[in-house]
Amino acid sequence: MIRLDKLIAYAAGLTRSQAGKAIRSGSVKVNGSILQKPEQKIDENACSVSLNGETIHFKRYRYFLLNKPTGVITASIDGSQKTVLDLFPHELRKLRLFPVGRLDKDTSGLLLVTNNGEFAHRLISPKSEIDKIYRATVSGSLTDADMMQFRSGLILADGTHCLPAGLTILGESECLVTIREGKYHQVRRMLAAVGKPVLTLQRVSIGPLDISSAPGEGHYRELTDEELCIMFNILHME
Ligand code: URA
Repeated sequence: MIRLDKLIAYAAGLTRSQAGKAIRSGSVKVNGSILQKPEQKIDENACSVSLNGETIHFKRYRYFLLNKPTGVITASIDGSQKTVLDLFPHELRKLRLFPVGRLDKDTSGLLLVTNNGEFAHRLISPKSEIDKIYRATVSGSLTDADMMQFRSGLILADGTHCLPAGLTILGESECLVTIREGKYHQVRRMLAAVGKPVLTLQRVSIGPLDISSAPGEGHYRELTDEELCIMFNILHME
């Protein structure tokens, strides 16, 4: 159940008070009848709602896959720097979207953006055991010894212990790093800990979501129903 003004505000990209005005003026119908009480609670899954004669397709929570370019920061708003939310149009930003987790300004690749706090919380938690894979180019030559260190759990320069992680060597200075946690600058600090500072970093997958199905850099798309179903299953969400 959701308040009618909240539903109209979310679905039509209005403020709560604009939605309230529209409702009080008689522009909103629920199951064919005008309803003029903004505070009225309705079952959004069982009612058909229209605003000025147009049916409202209401989705309370939205989930987007953004292919983040380098040069933008992972924040919702910032006074001086361009943020990942600046890559979304105004009507979507109004849905109170926020990025799930964090990619550095210099990191590109997959970033989920949603307005579902529970989804974000579960996705970030190492307890969910969702692999995040990063493709890195580094300075220096990667070795099997580096791989073993990643596998057994690295200790970073400041003494932080990392969970066991995967290192797949793709070329002399190119690799894939697989982690399940999201400590600050984790991949950069892990590779630095084995003496291979990162030159470029891109997140190429988050669980089943892969960069090959992402739009071009700087663009986003909504997750499909099938992808959402898989993600909800993995995250043990209804
Ligand atoms: N690890 C990093 O070091 N940077 C990122 O942006 C993501 C993971």
